[in-house]
Amino acid sequence: LTAAEEEVLDEIEAEDIDFLRLQFTDILGTVKNVSVPARQAEKAFTEGIYFDGSSIEGFVRIQESDMRLKPDPDTFAVLPWQKREDGASARMICDVIDTSTGEPFEGDPRRVLKNALERADDLGYTVNAAPEPEFFLFEEDEDGRATTETGDHGGYFDLAPKDLASDVRRDIIYGLEDMGFEIEASHHEVARGQHEINFEYDDALSTADNVGTFRTVVRAIAAQHDQHATFMPKPIPRINGSGMHTHLSLFEDGENAFHDADDEFDLSETAHSFIAGILEHAPAITAIANPTVNSYKRLVPGYEAPVYVAWSDRNRSALIRKPAARVPAASRVELRSPDPSCNPYLAFAAMIHAGLDGIEQDLECPDPVRENIYDFDEAKRDEYGIDTLPTNLGEAVDALEEDEVIYNALGDHVGPKFVEAKRQEFQDYLVDVSDWELDRYLETF
Ligand code: GLU
Ligand code: MG
Ligand code: MG
Repeated sequence: LTAAEEEVLDEIEAEDIDFLRLQFTDILGTVKNVSVPARQAEKAFTEGIYFDGSSIEGFVRIQESDMRLKPDPDTFAVLPWQKREDGASARMICDVIDTSTGEPFEGDPRRVLKNALERADDLGYTVNAAPEPEFFLFEEDEDGRATTETGDHGGYFDLAPKDLASDVRRDIIYGLEDMGFEIEASHHEVARGQHEINFEYDDALSTADNVGTFRTVVRAIAAQHDQHATFMPKPIPRINGSGMHTHLSLFEDGENAFHDADDEFDLSETAHSFIAGILEHAPAITAIANPTVNSYKRLVPGYEAPVYVAWSDRNRSALIRKPAARVPAASRVELRSPDPSCNPYLAFAAMIHAGLDGIEQDLECPDPVRENIYDFDEAKRDEYGIDTLPTNLGEAVDALEEDEVIYNALGDHVGPKFVEAKRQEFQDYLVDVSDWELDRYLETF
């Protein structure tokens, strides 16, 4: 056993852990887990835990279904919402191993992100990431089912008593802190019932792990208050949806490679090329960072979500924003399109590959757009050379298939499976008849 693995065994002893949840995610980003008695921990480290991969979305075909989970000891955390009297539980995030080859399984989203980070490493970079996940808290009905009613009617940065959900948010933060999160800030977002909790940036792999954990903790603690937390991008029409803005920076030899004090925007050549790469691949990234039918109800003008492919050093209607950095080490770019329904491993991998492609190809970065692009008409957008993001999941998947860099970034396994699953999802939506249609047409015709 490694030192880190030994440490986990000690903690299991000290914290009186009965059960270990071994976690991984499927292609859609859903956290899956296999629970094993804690005394199996040593075996989990040495031999791994076998499971049937055929029942996991997008994993393997029936006839080749044995997978092995290899827990990452750095991700050990006690689950704070599991009551002590019942015996405590802890979790570890795992890499998935293909038992037929003994190699990391190509269909594991965590592997896809590791591949992107290896490409960055080949170019001499490490990657830091910080997400800003937004979510809604909704009331449950008598049967415990989620509604879209909110207990509060607060708005941006409002305080109690309007913000009744602040108690829930506080308990969520305690839960996250117990799980090792460093919380930077939390606030009531623009929409009623909408919240945002920001946590400290970390290397991109840890951050992707953290997004999965974050969603799990937020839902679990909200449920203890009979509230349903949802990361659905646009649960209520005509008010703001939920984004997961993602801040990215590259470091080279311990220095922020995005910073250049001599540049008008404090951004280095490298940062400009990285931005250019993301703009170039933006349509394909959208399929991965905005992977649901509902994602495209958010990406419409007027609700602080991006629609147009441009960058800016100040305004929030652009796809990429350069946030003010207090210190050089904090120089970064903020991609505003991702939403919290995405698989964070795949979304980060796509963004990183796009940015690195910009660097490798030395792509030219356009001028920033400082006006509110929502106010531009088509002629003005043409004049500025501003493209529009895909307007639905079908278009986005087409763009993904046409973009070799991003499609290949997903690997031979995840790429085709992802496209197949998303085409089916879009088709299911197209053949459905919505409430809107019934309201509009049933009695008119
Ligand atoms: N909720 C907005 C979105 O959909 C973002 C608001 C903000 O700037 O934090 O992206
Ligand atoms: Mg926000
Ligand atoms: Mg933001």
